Amino acid sequence: MCENRCRQHGSLYNQSTGLEVLVEQTTDVAIVGGGIVGSAAAYVLARYTTVRRITLLERATVIATESSACGSNSQTLHVGDIETNYEPDMARRVRDDAELIAAYLDRHPRDASAYRRDHKMVLAVGVREVAQLTARFAAIRDLYPALRLVDGPAIAVLESNVMAGRNPRVPVAALVSHEGYTVNFAKLAASWIRAARASSAQVSVLCGMPVSAMRRADDGFVLAVPGGTIRARAVVVCAGAYSLLFARRLGYGQELEFLPVVGGFYRTTIPNVLTGKVYTVQVPERPFAAVHGDADVRNAQWTRFGPTAKPVPMLARARARTIPDFLRTIVWSARGILSYLVIMCRPQLFPFLLKMLIIESVPFIGKRVFLRDARKIVPKLRVSDIERVHNEGGIRPQLVDTRTMALQHGEGRIEGDRVIFNVTPSPGASVSLAVAARDAEQVCAWLGATFDRTRFIADHTRVPMDVSVPRTAA
Ligand SMILES: Cc1cc2nc3c(=O)[nH]c(=O)nc-3n(C[C@H](O)[C@H](O)[C@H](O)COP(=O)(O)OP(=O)(O)OC[C@H]3O[C@@H](n4cnc5c(N)ncnc54)[C@H](O)[C@@H]3O)c2cc1C
Repeated sequence: MCENRCRQHGSLYNQSTGLEVLVEQTTDVAIVGGGIVGSAAAYVLARYTTVRRITLLERATVIATESSACGSNSQTLHVGDIETNYEPDMARRVRDDAELIAAYLDRHPRDASAYRRDHKMVLAVGVREVAQLTARFAAIRDLYPALRLVDGPAIAVLESNVMAGRNPRVPVAALVSHEGYTVNFAKLAASWIRAARASSAQVSVLCGMPVSAMRRADDGFVLAVPGGTIRARAVVVCAGAYSLLFARRLGYGQELEFLPVVGGFYRTTIPNVLTGKVYTVQVPERPFAAVHGDADVRNAQWTRFGPTAKPVPMLARARARTIPDFLRTIVWSARGILSYLVIMCRPQLFPFLLKMLIIESVPFIGKRVFLRDARKIVPKLRVSDIERVHNEGGIRPQLVDTRTMALQHGEGRIEGDRVIFNVTPSPGASVSLAVAARDAEQVCAWLGATFDRTRFIADHTRVPMDVSVPRTAA
């Protein structure tokens, strides 16, 4: 997947021998970071623009090992129908952006292991949540013609374990869609890299190439990499949590800082507990998904529950050596520090984060507290039925705007002169292709190149499919 060879000059950086031979490459666009967002950028630039030289620089030895790795995220192509914390406007935007990926997946059956089409639902439990979900259905039903409001018996047909053992006096309802996509975003990223390299553009994908510094030069930017430099006319930084650090070093995003929130998962010890995705009603002011359960894209027999949400002073999960980097993202002013305090103490957030801290950090009790949330989905789950998935989960780089002292929902984008910094908490993977298209358009404007938007849209429009599945309307 990665080639550590610089085509223009034939120089070599050999990761396995540790041999560092001078890298001196000149490129039109350098992409920093090879997660789903950087891979999407390479794909769109290579296939839909007249930009000729594209270089992707990835710190790790393979692409998509951080937030975009399969075990790091919830594997959901978010379209806004079952995400009750999205305002209708955001739901519409995410739907349109995610639709591009749905179309790509449908049109690339060769990459079938990258995704599965599943049913999905958001479950409301209790009078208040049922009323809330009913009102939401009325507000968004025109946006999602395939969405249905269903009652308990209809839920049981799809997910018997969701209704088994449930108190019949507590009302339930669900918004159900049969058009869900469960996605291995790392495999999707690999598919985009293959497509980019099969194009007529010169695409270099250099892994094991951490960009340690970036400075402005007359003709663009100079990026420092092991053993040399890369000169680029424009740069798109897609380095996850590190994007803000790069931006700050070049003088951008001085009013922004991070609340890094780690998300982990539990897995059932018994197979086939759920067959699709079951989300729960979320608190609108909270940018983190409420606990949900679903069948893993890697093996449909595994059922995962999560993600948890614990703030950590790090930029990568379980890597204490990134603490100094996190400290560099803090706006060291009274307003910067106050922003953290104000956000963490918000009534919608404080009890939630405290509970998550207990779940993540307190042995014995943490698992039992988590089980209470998971039982909202599968009432008969026992403590012995779930186990922590170790070494999986990722960091959500939630942006904090110190001017408003508020958390930003969704992805963040900082645009400078010939440089773009993408910061992508959830639903960043779902909107990655749309982000890449916006970036490509801007990069082309800077470089005097053209972006063939018409062909891009035509290639990423879904061919109508037969979704003739039983729909039980309540
Ligand atoms: C628990 C959890 C659940 C989630 N669930 C979903 C979901 O269901 N659906 C969804 O759409 N989104 C979800 N997300 C969000 C989604 O995972 C991210 O938005 C997405 O993966 C971000 O992709 P990225 O390419 O920006 O970042 P990453 O995948 O983190 O990639 C960044 C890359 O940059 C590289 N890098 C960093 N610094 C450097 C450097 N100096 N030089 C070179 N390379 C560098 C890293 O090695 C990494 O490969 C979830 C996130 C979490 C944490």
